[in-house]
This record gives sequence, structure tokens and C-alpha cells, in this order.
Amino acid sequence: MNLCKCIEPDDIQASYDAAINEDLANAPQTIPGGRQKRAVGDHTKFWKKGRTLKVAFLSTNRWFIEATQGAIHQWIPAVFDVRILFVEGSEGDIRISDDFHSGNWSVVGTDALLVPKDEPTMNLQWQGLNQVFFGNVLHEFGHALGLKHEHQHPDANINWNETAVYEFMSRTQKWSREEIYSNLLKKLEKPKTRTSPYDRTSIMHYPIQAELTLDGVAIARNNRLSANDVKLMTEIYSGR
Ligand SMILES: [Zn+2]
Repeated sequence: MNLCKCIEPDDIQASYDAAINEDLANAPQTIPGGRQKRAVGDHTKFWKKGRTLKVAFLSTNRWFIEATQGAIHQWIPAVFDVRILFVEGSEGDIRISDDFHSGNWSVVGTDALLVPKDEPTMNLQWQGLNQVFFGNVLHEFGHALGLKHEHQHPDANINWNETAVYEFMSRTQKWSREEIYSNLLKKLEKPKTRTSPYDRTSIMHYPIQAELTLDGVAIARNNRLSANDVKLMTEIYSGR
């Protein structure tokens, strides 16, 4: 199984500028009554409501393209103020490749604007149409719409066995310590996330094996959008 790698931008200032240029609402929020300092890096990366988001495929595999489009359609009721348009050719705001050896990964939301136009912003490991592939598309497209990992929610109450996590992930995913930390163990700060409650059934949550936690609690793999995923995205992208 290949877990997703969420790609962080090399240039935080460029990420900030792209997000704010897209929509001022991406500016860091101050917490009411708090003394939180506004900082570059605490911005969100959602697309502006009313815009058309072009999705292109850097692939000639029709089965892959149709299966991916089918899964992305599941997101559309939650983002109806953003039009998702599948385009022929490679000129998309989101560009999806199917390099089997590169695993599942995506940049987050408006960070796609920073990626060179001839390069993918997302990769999906095509393994035929099955529930796992479908779930991977929903997860990666969640990143493309601006969502981060749910298991890194500030209120996530996972008792990680950090030693086991580093050992398991470096062995099975071949990730570096930094990649393991930034994709699993690092908690996101409050201003980076919306104030939706922690949801262990979210499509943006990793499955977690019992041996990776100190209390033996496992979290099953999710291949569908949770009610909260749809609610959160509807709040962000419809504003009603
Ligand atoms: Zn991910």
C-alpha cells in the first residue's frame, strides 16, 4: 500500500503570495481574544469561489482518466461554487499524472499555481478501478481543494508510538525521517486549519495500524467522503 505524500512548498513566501492573490480570505486568521501572531505560513490555500478549476491529465490511459474523473465527481456537490472542468491537453490548474513508481501525492490547493506548467501537481498510482484507488483519488483531490491531513488535526488524539512509526514508514514507504514527521506526526497549528472538529472518518485521515499506537488503537482505512468532509467543504466553497 502506498500512503499519500502531501507536498509542502519550497518557498513559503511564494505560497503565501499565491494564496492571497487567489483570495484574500486565505490570509491568516487571528483567533478571537488570542495573541496569535500573524505569520507567513499560517495561510489557507483554498480556491476562490466562483472560479473554474481546470483539471488536465498528463496521461493517455483512458481507464485511468475516466476512473479518476468518476471519483472527483463525488466532491462536486460540496464545491458547487467552484466549477470543475475536465480539459483535453495539459493546460490545467490541476495536472494529474499516473506514474506508478511515484506513489500518491499532491500539492495543497493554490500551491498548484507554483508548479511549472509542464509538471504534474498530483500523481495517482493507477492500480485498476477498485475501492482503494477510488479512495486515493478522493484523498488527493481533497488536497487539491486545499485540505490537509486530518490525522494532523490539532485535536487529533492519536497516541503514536513514534519509534514504531519511523521504523514502519521508512521500511514500507521508503520515506525520510522528515517526510514521516511532516506527513504523520507533526500537528497542524490552529490557524492553518478550519475550526471543524477532529474527524477520524475523514477521507483525509490515514489508516493507522494498532502496532503504530501506544494504546493499540487502530483506525480503519476510509475510502469514502465522511459527512463532515462534505459539510466542511460546503462551508468553504459555498459560503452559505
Ligand atoms: Zn494526503
